[in-house]
Amino acid sequence: MRKLTLLLFDLDATLVRTGGIGMQAMNQAYEELMGWPNALNEISPAGRTDISIAHELSNKHRSHDMAPAELDNVFNRYLKLLEVKIKTAENYRVLPGIREFLEKSEAHPDYVLGLGTGNLERGSHIKLERGDLNRFFPFGGFGSDAVLRPDVLRIGIERGEAYLECAIPREQVVVIGDTHHDITAGKQLGTKTIGVATGPYSVEQLAEHEPDLAIQDFSDTVSLDKFFNF
Ligand SMILES: [Mg+2]
Repeated sequence: MRKLTLLLFDLDATLVRTGGIGMQAMNQAYEELMGWPNALNEISPAGRTDISIAHELSNKHRSHDMAPAELDNVFNRYLKLLEVKIKTAENYRVLPGIREFLEKSEAHPDYVLGLGTGNLERGSHIKLERGDLNRFFPFGGFGSDAVLRPDVLRIGIERGEAYLECAIPREQVVVIGDTHHDITAGKQLGTKTIGVATGPYSVEQLAEHEPDLAIQDFSDTVSLDKFFNF
C-alpha cells in the first residue's frame, strides 16, 4: 500500500500575501459594525484564527466575547469587502516558489495537499482565487471551524482522511506555516512541521521552535527536495 503524506498549508504569508487588503477589510468591518477603529493594528493577528482574534478584540474593548450574531455580522461584512478589495490589491502576490512547489507535490503520487489556516473558509477561497490556487486544495481546516489552531489542524487532518478514505498517521502529516503558532500547533498534534520565513519571523526565529525544517521561502528547492524526497 502507498504511504501517503498529507501537507497542510497555512495561507497568509505562507502561500500568498494580500498586500494588507485582508487586514484593511477586517479593520473596516470592525469599525463599521462595532465602532472599533484600526482594531487589528493593536494586536498581533499573525498565525491566529479569525474567531480568536475577534474574542481578543472584544475582551479588550468591553471585557466579554463577541456574541455569535455579532461575529456573523462582522465576518459577513469582512467577506464582502475582501471580495471587492482583493481584485484591485496592488501588492497581492503568490509567494516565491509556491506555485512550482504545489504543482510538483500535487503531481507526486505520495503527497496530498490541504489547508490548515486561521482564515474563515470563504475568506480562504477569496484570498486564493486571485492567485488561482484553490484548485490545489480540495479540503482543509479553517478558522471558521474552531477557535484554536490545533483544533483547526485536527479538523483539516480529519477532512483529509475522509477525502482519501483512509487513516493518516500524524507522523505522515506536515504542517507548513510562517509563524511559531503553526509550528507549535503541529507539534502538539504530533505532525512534522516546516517553518517558512515569508511572514513576520526570520528563519532563525522560526528555528527556535524546532520545526523539522526552516526555510527562507519555497524557492529553496535544495532543502525541499531533500526533505520530501522528490
Ligand atoms: Mg500565516
